[in-house]
Amino acid sequence: MTDSSSAWSAERAAVADACRRLGAEGLLIGTAGNVSVRTEDRVAITATGAVLADLTPDQVTVVDLDGKIVSGRLRPTSELDLHLGVYHRYGTGAVVHTHAPMATALSLVLDELPCIHYQLLTLGGTVRVAPYATFGTPELAESVLTALEGRGGALMANHGAVTHAPTLDKAVEHALLLEWACGVYQSAAALGQPRVLDEQQQLAVIEAAVARNYGTTQSVPPVQEGP
Ligand SMILES: [Zn+2]
Repeated sequence: MTDSSSAWSAERAAVADACRRLGAEGLLIGTAGNVSVRTEDRVAITATGAVLADLTPDQVTVVDLDGKIVSGRLRPTSELDLHLGVYHRYGTGAVVHTHAPMATALSLVLDELPCIHYQLLTLGGTVRVAPYATFGTPELAESVLTALEGRGGALMANHGAVTHAPTLDKAVEHALLLEWACGVYQSAAALGQPRVLDEQQQLAVIEAAVARNYGTTQSVPPVQEGP
């Protein structure tokens, strides 16, 4: 085991980059929120008390899957157990938790965000709202883990949102998608009762996406360019 600052420099830089991106997109407020990425049995995670939108790599602490510090001089986020729980239960690669404004607003009034747009199928469809529990507690971690069953994201009642994915980039994209969908739902709900995609419509989207390799760039034959 090594504790040189270069040992986890790529992971630390990736977490800092992800935080700055989430901050630039307006999903982070002050020290609220936390981000982590897993490499085998090590997790690089934001330190408690750090201003995430300005996060620097030295504000990322590396722990093992039991939460023991492997590298770093700062105490990890108070939601460490939530992150570790997601890794243990779902074997994922990265976790993002924010108090993003649209997601948090919906978490005050809804029990679930219905599947109002086909892009939400990226997260598994309907997004559950995990019942409220005090931050940093095992009760909150358990509540969120249950809400994440079969999903890439969940809302946390009167608190915020959490997303996870095999890679950190994807977990960030999921956080942005969830926040966008929450904003769309709010705008629509102000005008009337939002329509929801039914099961048949959702299934048809999944079939079409598989058939067309949706979401990936696709090569076309070279264009014959004129003189
Ligand atoms: Zn929080």
